[in-house]
Amino acid sequence: MSPQHLARAVPPASGDPRRGIVRTDAALAAPELAEVVARRGRAAVRTAVRAAQDRARQGEIAPDEVVAAARQALEDQRAATEVFNATGVVLHTNLGRAQLGPDAVDALVAASGCTDVELDLASGVRARRGRQTLDALSRRVPDAAGVLVVNNGAAALVLALTALAQGREVLVSRGEMVEIGDGFRIPDLLESTGVRLREVGTTNRTRLADYADAVTERTAAILKVHPSNFRVEGFTSEATITELATLGLPVVADTGSGLLAPDPALPDEPDAATALRAGATVVTCSGDKLLGGPQAGLVFGDADTVERLRRHPLQRALRADKLALAALAATLDAATTPTSVAIHADEAELRARAEQLASLVEGQLPVEVVPSAGRVGGGAAPGLPLPGWALALPESYADRLRLASPPVVARVEAGRTLVDVRCLPPDRLGEVAGAIREVASRA
Ligand SMILES: *Cc1c(COP(=O)(O)O)cnc(C)c1O
Repeated sequence: MSPQHLARAVPPASGDPRRGIVRTDAALAAPELAEVVARRGRAAVRTAVRAAQDRARQGEIAPDEVVAAARQALEDQRAATEVFNATGVVLHTNLGRAQLGPDAVDALVAASGCTDVELDLASGVRARRGRQTLDALSRRVPDAAGVLVVNNGAAALVLALTALAQGREVLVSRGEMVEIGDGFRIPDLLESTGVRLREVGTTNRTRLADYADAVTERTAAILKVHPSNFRVEGFTSEATITELATLGLPVVADTGSGLLAPDPALPDEPDAATALRAGATVVTCSGDKLLGGPQAGLVFGDADTVERLRRHPLQRALRADKLALAALAATLDAATTPTSVAIHADEAELRARAEQLASLVEGQLPVEVVPSAGRVGGGAAPGLPLPGWALALPESYADRLRLASPPVVARVEAGRTLVDVRCLPPDRLGEVAGAIREVASRA
């Protein structure tokens, strides 16, 4: 054992009254911690107290700061910290993609106890899991006779190809061998399920004939992936779903971003209804991108194919939880979503919002309202500009705003911190201004 390992094996600290470090039982009884003991239990608080006693021994904190340090450490163990998205990127993967709307939030709370997720209350017998959500999906995409919800977009794609092509070959264009983020690549994901991918065509041009020439008796399906997070420009072409459907093989279309019907503001984004009408056998996409709902994977198709996916053993490992199902149903039935509102926001309205934010911090520091280029983000509509407005602050503010309460995640551009107002809820600008004032008062 190295000396460091030996040092770790020393029994945990237990107070040291001679050095002014509070004893563990006395700390647990302190009023500042008693309420935390009631909520979190003795064991968790004791662990935090011992860690704080250790820090006091090492001289990292003063001996009389043990209780406060333990309390802070326990507060820092929050499940998640709400942050304000001032990046101008509507679907920010690091910030959890889509913000849920009020109906979806209510649905989450309502579903947090016991629910009828798999029970028909009228007859008292077991019912199709999440049928309300499936019905809502069918209402929104009438072209799909079959619908299914799983954990996320990647799960939807894996399930579709495993059920349709395990042990066989799937054709995919070289221009659609996409990496979806954090080093995860669609080809690797699919090969991990026992599907063999056969690449056809070239990076910039793939024609129907490239697919037709590659078909053999081993071919089980054709995969069409929407290159959602990059764009190839210039001398390019890809075979369409309509063309691919003529080859007589199942066509799986991974549209990715979750648009259910065409959106004129997002002309290059594929949508589920159009893909099905063009002849796709199965369409897969995410629930927390352009759809604006919780993390989920959606599957659309004909009734028989979707039933085949639903009966596949893997489906049970990928099924959506009751909270996601509830939030998704409410999102689908809502008139709009925060995601859609942010993408379609009117530029003049954004400017007025930025000016309102400026007026709330004015006097404290020099502020300037400036144009700011937002993005859809989240692997959707790459290159589509979203002209908006921001509050410009000194560059050094970005780091400190992230540590303010509540945290504000802004964007640094050309030596300035831009607080882009596109994704800030208009009724919460006061809280954002409060965070900015907090940072300014310490600057
Ligand atoms: C985002 C995306 C995925 C992955 O979806 P998740 O919901 O993140 O699992 C797969 N394919 C495409 C084309 C995507 O855009």
